[in-house]
Amino acid sequence: MRQHSADRATPRTGRGHGKGHGKGGGRRHRLFDYGELRLLILMMIEEQPRHGYELIKLIESRFDGSYSPSPGVIYPTLSWLEDMGYVRISPDGAGRKCSEITPEGVAFLTANRAAGAELLTRKPPMGREGAPAEILAAMDRLKAALRARFGAAAQDATEVARVAEQIATLADQLAAAPSASPEAEPAVLIRHRYETRRRDLTVREARYLTPHMIRVVLEGEDLHDFVSLGADDHIKLFLPGTGTEPEMRDYTPRAYDTEARTLTLDFAVHDAGPATAWAMAAQPGDSLSIGGPRGSSVIAPVFDWYLLIGDETALPAIGRKVEELGVGVEAITLVAVPEPADQQPFDSAAQVTAHWVHRPVQRASDPAPLIAALADIALPAGKGFVFIAAEAAVARALKSEILARGHRKDWMKAAGYWIDGQVAASDKSLD
Ligand SMILES: Cc1cc2nc3c(=O)[nH]c(=O)nc-3n(C[C@H](O)[C@H](O)[C@H](O)COP(=O)(O)OP(=O)(O)OC[C@H]3O[C@@H](n4cnc5c(N)ncnc54)[C@H](O)[C@@H]3O)c2cc1C
Repeated sequence: MRQHSADRATPRTGRGHGKGHGKGGGRRHRLFDYGELRLLILMMIEEQPRHGYELIKLIESRFDGSYSPSPGVIYPTLSWLEDMGYVRISPDGAGRKCSEITPEGVAFLTANRAAGAELLTRKPPMGREGAPAEILAAMDRLKAALRARFGAAAQDATEVARVAEQIATLADQLAAAPSASPEAEPAVLIRHRYETRRRDLTVREARYLTPHMIRVVLEGEDLHDFVSLGADDHIKLFLPGTGTEPEMRDYTPRAYDTEARTLTLDFAVHDAGPATAWAMAAQPGDSLSIGGPRGSSVIAPVFDWYLLIGDETALPAIGRKVEELGVGVEAITLVAVPEPADQQPFDSAAQVTAHWVHRPVQRASDPAPLIAALADIALPAGKGFVFIAAEAAVARALKSEILARGHRKDWMKAAGYWIDGQVAASDKSLD
């Protein structure tokens, strides 16, 4: 995947910076610095072309009305994005200046997706502008009552001490109460939707990566605006069928490069099926049409560790995830493949421990080998996310095992990538 320097997301130079402001007065602390705001705005323009006022309203609503950048911030930011070639600004039907993302802008977002995902999890600092309206009203009533009672010059010292004690007791009780309900936590999965369209591509290269995995590199001008922000995204392959309708199968974009216009897919080799047969026969110059991805659900980078479990069909998603993790994060992978030669090394800045299970493809729908290996793996301390993808019954058994260990259901994503004995079948949520 093409990498841009992540700190290009937070450039310090540029022109015309204004100040973000909270509702009802100026903010002492900005929720985003200038570079972060540029990234946030570009993400919103990626969803659809937008004009400046619309962006102000959108940011206000995404952050529950607690943060609203001023026009003095938005318009210079849009000019900066245009100068960098990340957006194109042109008048819309109503004559308003509308910003549309460019392929360079998409590439920039792709290279900074982790930073962008984190921005969406930001909560405004708890100040007046971040507090719920009921609390603000109650604070105003308290202040008014205190002014009415103690505003006069003469003070009764005993009364002052009693009221001060009452207020201090309430403050202590609030501080001792659980800080936040689970519902109040920032979202762990950040969803992006994309406009989908069919892309007609050509095979540039097809080769066996390992004995049971074929890597196909596709190319085509249609990839100039391809985007996939989630490691476990999937696209649809439209394969020649026996009738007039194409056969459709789901595959993970293992890597892509919008500048080079390439997309890499890895096909696990098993006995039957049009997708596998197509990959086994693929030659440079062959055609393949794809659709999607329709969207991504990106895991917010708030976890200390990741446990990634799957079979060979999950290796593309697991490899992508491991490769995108940063320094200071721990990753444990547990993958079932037919033989030791099918193991794949992944580069990562994270601290990675890889466990491999070997069993023949014919046993890929038997949960026993992965369940046995999982029993020997202790979940690290701290906040962890578990990803599971395999044959549906296997994935379901693994999910039950992880839940039985007390792991939070919302810190997990489990999917059946295929169903034993069924063609073109999957169970993406396993609920
Ligand atoms: C979100 C998502 C992402 C995916 N990403 C990838 C990916 O990147 N790489 C990849 O290889 N697969 C991936 N898969 C799995 C892939 O879509 C299925 O394996 C698909 O069924 C293969 O199509 P086919 O035409 O070869 O077989 P089908 O015609 O669908 O099935 C024919 C027969 O083969 C069986 N079968 C299907 N897959 C396997 C298998 N892996 N091992 C043994 N038997 C099988 C079926 O049960 C059926 O009996 C993904 C699935 C999902 C849902």
